Amino acid sequence: MTIAIYPATFDPITNGHIDIAERAAAIFDRLIVAVYARPLKRLLFSAEERLAMTRQALKHIPNVSVESYDCLTVDFARQKGAQVVVRGLRVLSDFEWEFQLALTNRKLAPDIDTVCLMASQEYSFLSSSVVKEVAMAGGCVDNMVSTHVVSALKRKFEGLGEKGSDKVQIISLRD
Ligand code: ADP
Repeated sequence: MTIAIYPATFDPITNGHIDIAERAAAIFDRLIVAVYARPLKRLLFSAEERLAMTRQALKHIPNVSVESYDCLTVDFARQKGAQVVVRGLRVLSDFEWEFQLALTNRKLAPDIDTVCLMASQEYSFLSSSVVKEVAMAGGCVDNMVSTHVVSALKRKFEGLGEKGSDKVQIISLRD
């Protein structure tokens, strides 16, 4: 039985992440989607909120479970008996980072391999950062995330008021 983990921050989970999880679940016997609790980047949602949103978004896939973790990814994979780390590759710029990450994980754990799935064309533009920036500015994200995530984003930005922009890494949408 091949067990894979799909680790990410999921701040929040997007349709691009869901697509990767569905496709990975069709390849491996079991997929554990691993929500990283303590990334070094600024987050909009708490670890509990990200876990709950990710669980709800993936509940239709029978061989997928969702857990949070706060240790090294390869240590978490070992704890779970996983042999594979799944990642998604969007544009060329993802490659360098994913390559570095895969080689580092390989050094730490030669028995665990990384499998990258190419992003589907319709999601290749999509990232959690884009979703947060569009939602913060009041734009429609209905085609980018699940309905419960649309609602969570609305609630979050209403609750944060003026401070909302402090929580979002602004990217280049207005350039
Ligand atoms: P992290 O900060 O952990 O890289 P992300 O949640 O942004 O967090 O990304 C996790 C993984 O999911 C990465 O491998 C990334 O390339 C992939 N991913 C993110 N968005 C998409 C998408 N739209 N299509 C395919 N893969 C994606």
